[in-house]
Parts: sequence; C-alpha cells; structure tokens
Amino acid sequence: PLVLGIESSCDETGVGLVRGHTLLANEVASSVDLHVRFGGVVPEVASRAHLSALIPTFERAAAKADVDLADVDAIAVTAGPGLMGALVVGIAAAKAMSAYLGKPLYGVNHLVGHVAVDLLDHGPLPQPALALLVSGGHTSLLHVEDVATKITEIGSTIDDAAGEAYDKVARLLGLAYPGGPVIDRAAAEGDPSAIRFPRGLTARHDLEKHRFDFSFSGLKTAVARWVEQRRLDGRDVPVADVAASFQEAVADVLTAKTIDAAQHHGVDSILIGGGVAANSRLRTLLEERAAAAGFEVRRPRPALCTDNGAMIAAVGAEVVRAGVAPSGLGFSAHSGLPVSTIVV
Ligand code: ATP
Ligand code: MG
Ligand code: FE
Repeated sequence: PLVLGIESSCDETGVGLVRGHTLLANEVASSVDLHVRFGGVVPEVASRAHLSALIPTFERAAAKADVDLADVDAIAVTAGPGLMGALVVGIAAAKAMSAYLGKPLYGVNHLVGHVAVDLLDHGPLPQPALALLVSGGHTSLLHVEDVATKITEIGSTIDDAAGEAYDKVARLLGLAYPGGPVIDRAAAEGDPSAIRFPRGLTARHDLEKHRFDFSFSGLKTAVARWVEQRRLDGRDVPVADVAASFQEAVADVLTAKTIDAAQHHGVDSILIGGGVAANSRLRTLLEERAAAAGFEVRRPRPALCTDNGAMIAAVGAEVVRAGVAPSGLGFSAHSGLPVSTIVV
C-alpha cells in the first residue's frame, strides 16, 4: 500500500511517501532558522511555520514520488510526543485528508518513527532487537519485540537527553544551534582524550539502580566548569578538544549501556535512531563495540535520523501490515506520549 506520513512534532514539517518498504519521497521543511537567535525552538513560531509549510511540502513529495493524493491508501501522522501546538497542525491536516479520501488514519508515535525508519534503508527490521533512541528530547533503551505492536522501555535518561546535552554544550562553547552537527564537526579536529569528562550513571553503586538509565546533566556541568576555569585563568578554550572529549564521554556511555542491554535481553541485533544517531563518533564506536560483542547494528543514513515524514510513513506501513486498528478522526495530540503507545 501507498502510505503517506506527516510529521510536525517540533520544528520540521515532514512529508514522506512509502510503498511497502520502499521510500518514494521524503520532503522536509525546517523552521530552524527562525529559532536560531533564540537558541531553541519557539513553539508559536514553529506552529505557524507548519501551517505555511505543510501543503507545499506535501506537493513537493507527491511530485517527487509521482503520485496524487487520491492514490494514497493510508495516512500516518505524528500524534506525539512533541509540542502541542505543532502537533495539532499536522493532525488536523491528516484528518482533513483522511476524511476527504475515505482512507484510514493512524496517529502514531514519533519516537517509534525514529526506530522504524531504518527499514526504508535496510529492509525489514531484525526483531526482537534492542534499540537505542537518542534524540533532542529523549534518550532511552528499548526492547523492540515488534515495532508495530510491542515496544518496552527498559531505561531512559533521568535528566537531560543526549541531544539536549549537545545543544547546551554547543551554546556554552559559543557554537551555533542546533549543537549536535556543529560539535560533531568541531570534534573531528580535536583530541577525544584531551580531557576526561564524567560518564554518568556508570559507577558501581549507580549501576545497581540505574543499569540501563542515562544522565547527561553532570557531564554538561563538568564541561561548563572546565571552560569557566579556563577563562578565569585567562587561557584560550581549546574548542575542538572540548568538543571531542565531550563527544567521547557521550558515545562511550551510550554504547556501553546499549551493548550491556542487548546482552541482558539476549537479542542479536541493535537498532539506533533519533537525531543524535547521526553522530559520527557514536556510529563508529557502536559499530566497533557491537562487532566485538557479536551484534548486528542497523543504523539509518544520517538524513533519516533527524525528524522527517518518511519515518512516520514507515510506522504507518508497519501497523497496516500488522493489521492494527486505525485511530479514526477522534484522537488528539499527546505531548507526552510514552514510546510504548505505538498507535493512539
Ligand atoms: P524528539 O525526537 O525526542 O522528540 P527532536 O525530534 O527535537 O526530539 P531529533 O530531530 O530527533 O529531536 O534530533 C535533534 C537532536 O539531534 C538535536 O539535539 C541535535 O543537536 C541532535 N543532532 C543532530 N545531528 C547530530 C550529530 N551529528 N551529532 C550529535 N547530535 C546531533
Ligand atoms: Mg528539529
Ligand atoms: Fe525527533
């Protein structure tokens, strides 16, 4: 079936079209430039940008896929989690299309989209699998029995998300927003072992209660203190070394806990998704450690890691395949939708 996916949970308006596991089109309009001077997403600005961008983005996707709205067999839209005002724009548009076409509508979980999207790159997901979800608002380990019907969160961050830590550290280094891609680039010129930053929740007493949980706020504070001390001493801040050392701390703890969780749950495969999954060091370190421990790693191309409509269409394709009941037109946006709720 031809599945249309609509994403509007944050600052990207995404429209994706997939047929089965084949990606036909994936058009994204971002309002990130409007938020840059605020150093973060301004909800009202994002909502309005979705309103203007949605139809043109759909038109570009339909042209690229060479399909008409009338050809669409099912529609999937992000029901949450995300910014309330941003979510409602995509949901209203999807309901209008579904009502007009008389085709089923699925309100799906954005986070599941980050996990499912790899099937468009590398085919059916190996299941059961252990998934590392690392995005701007979330950092979790998931046991994925079936991406359409059964996902269990086995751990998550107790404070900041990994992407949030990237954005905050970039800001204190005077780098641009969003910080992830900028730090990734700066780190390429630096020495990852220059400074030993803390690895959150890896001490023996933390592992008892928080074996599969993460914490990044202590790391962020450690970087802030280090940079501040350097400035007080009247010395230059070696931005590339700080970026590389911070990135090493993040990648080290994310990969170590992911491998531990995969071993604990007896799976063969590891999935990775979310904006931070685009990170170059995280990708190579995970690959290295997974290979050493005998796990297969599936990771989408970087462009599919950050928010897009194809990932929502991918969840749509999977729930249609699994025979999950459509959501109908009566559902609303859920800003805090838990990852275990795949379809509302
Ligand atoms: P969520 O999915 O939790 O609702 P979100 O949709 O805002 O949050 P994503 O679009 O999945 O988040 O990811 C955005 C985050 O990814 C930002 O914090 C950004 O800094 C980070 N990011 C993007 N590219 C990279 C990279 N190469 N390295 C590290 N982080 C990155
Ligand atoms: Mg974004
Ligand atoms: Fe996201």
